[in-house]
Amino acid sequence: MKRRWLALAGFTCLLYGTDSSTDGKRWWSHILYLADDKLEGRLTGSEGYRKAAIYVAGEFERAGLKPGGTSGYFQPVKFKSREIVEEGSSLALERNGAKEALRLGEDATISMRVDPAVSVEAPLAFVGYGLTVPELKFDDLAGQDLRGKIAVYMSGGPSSIPGALSSHYQSAEERGVFLERAGVVGTCAIANPAAMDVPWARSALARFQPAMSLNYPELDKSFGLQISATINPSHLDKWLAGSGHTADEILALAKERKPLPHFSLDGRLNAKTEARRTEVESPNVIAILPGTDPKLKDEYVVLSAHLDHLGVGRPINGDSIYNGAMDDASGVATLLDIAEQLHEAKPKLRRSLIFVTVAAEEKGLLGSKYFATNPTVKREQIVADLNVDMFLPLFPFHILTVYGLDESDLGRQVRAVADPLGIRIQRDLEPERNIFIRSDQYNFIRQGVPSLFFKVGYEKGSPEEGIAKKWLKERYHAPSDDVNQPVDLKAAADFNRMMLLLAETVANQTARPQWDQDSFFRRFAKNGD
Ligand SMILES: [Zn+2]
Repeated sequence: MKRRWLALAGFTCLLYGTDSSTDGKRWWSHILYLADDKLEGRLTGSEGYRKAAIYVAGEFERAGLKPGGTSGYFQPVKFKSREIVEEGSSLALERNGAKEALRLGEDATISMRVDPAVSVEAPLAFVGYGLTVPELKFDDLAGQDLRGKIAVYMSGGPSSIPGALSSHYQSAEERGVFLERAGVVGTCAIANPAAMDVPWARSALARFQPAMSLNYPELDKSFGLQISATINPSHLDKWLAGSGHTADEILALAKERKPLPHFSLDGRLNAKTEARRTEVESPNVIAILPGTDPKLKDEYVVLSAHLDHLGVGRPINGDSIYNGAMDDASGVATLLDIAEQLHEAKPKLRRSLIFVTVAAEEKGLLGSKYFATNPTVKREQIVADLNVDMFLPLFPFHILTVYGLDESDLGRQVRAVADPLGIRIQRDLEPERNIFIRSDQYNFIRQGVPSLFFKVGYEKGSPEEGIAKKWLKERYHAPSDDVNQPVDLKAAADFNRMMLLLAETVANQTARPQWDQDSFFRRFAKNGD
């Protein structure tokens, strides 16, 4: 592997890298700062986030990058924040005049992503995956009168719908349009055991974290939803009672990603919700490395990562600080490491690079949505997004999983960079986890910008898969995603080098990246192709 790096450095003209970049220690030093307990988990709107933003701006400046925000390196973003007051909240199933109270946190949780009405009482309908995919004429919402009802659905989708399409139509924004059209007043999503990253008990604890939305009316649609809840699949039978269907049946079908039935449910849901509402502000932190080509310098390649994490929450094993070392201090550290390597080697890049670290990814990709819809350079000048979020260098880097690989020119460019390094490229092994829409690249995609997203990859059934799965189960969105976990620094350094070479390749390529002719995401492209 090492020899291949040197050979590659030869043909890119520059021998990059001091020891501190090649051994991963500089990358790790940024994580040590950002994921320190003192930053209290970098919750959007918090003092810890403010410290992190100041640190990143300082590092951008040290690396010789130009400010790219609206106020120096900062682009302030306003958010509404909501926290549940569970003492004043309840869910109950009402059948034949009898009410069965549900246990919040055990049977179900109330989500604050949807701004809840104080009280909702409505009949329930089971709508399969709750998916509408017009181009496949697939519609789980058809055939039942859903007006005024609460739609109960299994998260995920059937295997008949290709991954990208399925992911796209499972996004809150796409679902919302069809739910509103059908007259649905609320949703109850069944957590799909086949796609759950973390055990129910831990994901249920997250219900006490504040939910946020952008505090700009044009960017904050509610789609007429008054309540949104998540159902624990272990207690699904309570909801299905009297319907003629069982949890075992539904879960078995969902596990195989088979089509699900549609049927009305017996009874009504009574939901009462008390919420504490505040307004907060946090900046995206943005910096520019100007390109040198007289024409192409007005085009920008985005390198993005999210600076926020979950803050301070319910303790797990006595620790209440959710440090977010891998999620996503690691991606921010990659951007900083790339900026420093470029500062040291000073290559001439034809296009400009714009480094965008965003707020409120954990709150529904909000900071990136704000940047992508209100960019600090002209929208049509943004030609690509390379997003780095929790790439998980937990074992040596030989395989790169690329999300969006088959969608645009960028897929061929990443192959051209990885092949000489001996890194094998693979596509998404688990489309059912919806990873392609679960990080900030998705907001760029929605603006028509070809994008890629990356993870250190593994083969199915390998020991590395075991390590990655164990990490998700034990550390993902837990306080133990901190600086006291084993990380493969060499893998991180190798990954960072690959990202740097990819950024250079995209910046220097004469042709602007384009969506492939047959890419589903091409529909968002506005640049006339
Ligand atoms: Zn996260």
